[in-house]
Amino acid sequence: MYDNVNVEEIFGSKVFTLGKMRERLPEAVFKEVRSVMQHGGELSRKSADVVAGAMKDWAIENGATHYTHWFQPLTGITAEKHDAFISHPDSNGRMIMDFSGKELIKGEPDASSFPSGGLRATFEARGYTVWDITSPAFLKEDATGVILCIPTAFCSYTGEALDKKTPLLRSMEVVSDQALRIVRLFGDTTAKKVTPSVGPEQEYFLVDRDKYLRRPDMVFAGRTLFGAPAPKGQEMDDHYFGAIRERIGAFMRDLNLELWKLGVTAKTQHNEAAPAQHELAPIYETANIAVDHNQIIMETMKKVAERRGLHCLLNEKPYEGVNGSGKHNNWSLTTDTGVNLLDPGEAPEANVRFLLVLSCILKAVDDHADLLRQSAANVGNEHRLGADEAPPAIISVFLGEQLEDVVRQLVETGAADHSIHGGKLMTGVSTLSDIEKDATDRNRTSPFAFTGNKFEFRMVGSSDSIADANTAINTIVAEAFCDAADELEKADNFELAVHDLIKKNLSDHVRIIFSGDGYSDAWVEEAAKRGLPNIRTMVDAASALTTERSVKLFERFGIYTKVELESREEIVYETYSKSINIEANAMIGMARKLYIPAVVKYEKLLADTINQLKGAGVDPVSETEILSEISAELKAVLKAVEALEKVTADAKAMKYGKEQAASYRDNVVPAMAELRTPVDKLETLVDKRMWPVPTYEDLMFEV
Ligand code: ADP
Ligand code: MG
Repeated sequence: MYDNVNVEEIFGSKVFTLGKMRERLPEAVFKEVRSVMQHGGELSRKSADVVAGAMKDWAIENGATHYTHWFQPLTGITAEKHDAFISHPDSNGRMIMDFSGKELIKGEPDASSFPSGGLRATFEARGYTVWDITSPAFLKEDATGVILCIPTAFCSYTGEALDKKTPLLRSMEVVSDQALRIVRLFGDTTAKKVTPSVGPEQEYFLVDRDKYLRRPDMVFAGRTLFGAPAPKGQEMDDHYFGAIRERIGAFMRDLNLELWKLGVTAKTQHNEAAPAQHELAPIYETANIAVDHNQIIMETMKKVAERRGLHCLLNEKPYEGVNGSGKHNNWSLTTDTGVNLLDPGEAPEANVRFLLVLSCILKAVDDHADLLRQSAANVGNEHRLGADEAPPAIISVFLGEQLEDVVRQLVETGAADHSIHGGKLMTGVSTLSDIEKDATDRNRTSPFAFTGNKFEFRMVGSSDSIADANTAINTIVAEAFCDAADELEKADNFELAVHDLIKKNLSDHVRIIFSGDGYSDAWVEEAAKRGLPNIRTMVDAASALTTERSVKLFERFGIYTKVELESREEIVYETYSKSINIEANAMIGMARKLYIPAVVKYEKLLADTINQLKGAGVDPVSETEILSEISAELKAVLKAVEALEKVTADAKAMKYGKEQAASYRDNVVPAMAELRTPVDKLETLVDKRMWPVPTYEDLMFEV
């Protein structure tokens, strides 16, 4: 059916990889580039020109006409402004394609229209994009042609971060520095760098594009705002890991090919829990590259879907009543000598370095649970976190039986001398081999779960950038490492001091450990008893950014200034208000222009029928009953539309800020729900052929 694909050949073919640089750059320049990548510093102007020339030649050989500084403003998606490689024609009118080191390193998009939460008003309206040499340039190919994309960070004239990348890069350096202090304490003198690795699993829905285009709510809000449930949801569990249908399979194949060319290690694909829901997981890599690649994955999903007559829904909750989509952010720390600091080894109870690292992470998560929660907040995720499905809005850590037992021993007696091992799994079938079990089973409901040699932060929304979450994780862990190193570096007796510190960290923060059902009401109660924060909404979560504790944390490590944090908090409120406003408008428009006219038409049909039946001497008792029920619901619709119009106008008239966002949350969102109820009821009463938009059945089961 398909031509064979040579994955080895196509992998990274559209990426200006280190290998290509080695081939194309003079040795001295290549060495300089590699050194800057590994140890930081700046490329000399001359070398930058050489790199730019080589990059341009490679791009043009591959059909590129333009380049762009590709950056990640606070919208959560990526931004690009294309410039052709062309320069002034020479005196013969001949074009010379040009690209200098200066253009490679620095760009100056007119960026005054990006969200800046007041930063731009306070400072000069100038923004610069700066090449992130550690993330490779790549070629984007679509109807626009071939564009050389240069990953960059985006800063204001005075150096404030205007994007998600700059703080992330800052946090990676900080966690590296502090983690190195920890490994030095254990006698490691060779490691020079510690890198956070990230593997984000990406969930998504696919929908038929023609049907999608007939749903203004999906077009404007990315999710359905109306819709009666289909006869079937996900209760049969037959979609999860089910056989992949041809149309979806063809999409996945295209997607993999595109991603492999772009150097993205798309590895795992499967159907997810909800109908028409799927997942893609890449192989983990350095955090900033993982962030870039996750953006590429999301963008490529959208593009490939369109080519196949599909639309890819990345919204966290496209449909009510079935699972939403998230991103599982797998995170670990590895030295440049290849040691994963989160690997417990065979005997975690005796692995003091691991226990120290673990105890620091528990402390970090407990101390800054509000920040973690905030880092995963976005508008769509409001319907996932703490709502009818999980992960809950409460942060807790799952360690698994083995580590929990070790922690218990340490807390109770100050020493751990054994740990539970997995043993053999007996299948009871002679032809199946008995396999070694993991020491720990899984827990699917925990927001922050230890899974073997990494932590999995499961709160992030499917449409969100993973940058904020990783910036938060890196920074809070760096702080805990820093506190530990401060204490241990000056200890007279290291052995004693480290044991005391591990015990103290674990005892102080044992409340964050939870292995039960995170989706249950019992946990909400229990968490409250333990004093763990349960921050239900995005609007409430935003202030976590500017608490005294957070400002101190971020300023101490140079990740964000107070002003940057305040601006980010403002942006949360603004984004929330604008998004809900759009959703409310979409609902009002659909009710007035689609649903009400359709219902009125059906009413007319019923009324005509009733009259005709009467004329024919038949008592139209059922028809009249149906008509009056519909008419009553329609009345409720009209009342609810008017109410929604009013509260939306009131909220819109307010000044941007927390109060306005709270007004959207407390007044507009409930009014939206009030409108949805009678419309969804009408959907079950009106002739399906007269219903003006595709229904849940059409959207989820006829992809
Ligand atoms: P799961 O069974 O939870 O799906 P996988 O082993 O498939 O776990 O991994 C899920 C994701 O975690 C993948 O993206 C994978 O590359 C990533 N991952 C695996 N090991 C690590 C690690 N040490 N650090 C960070 N991410 C990792
Ligand atoms: Mg997983």
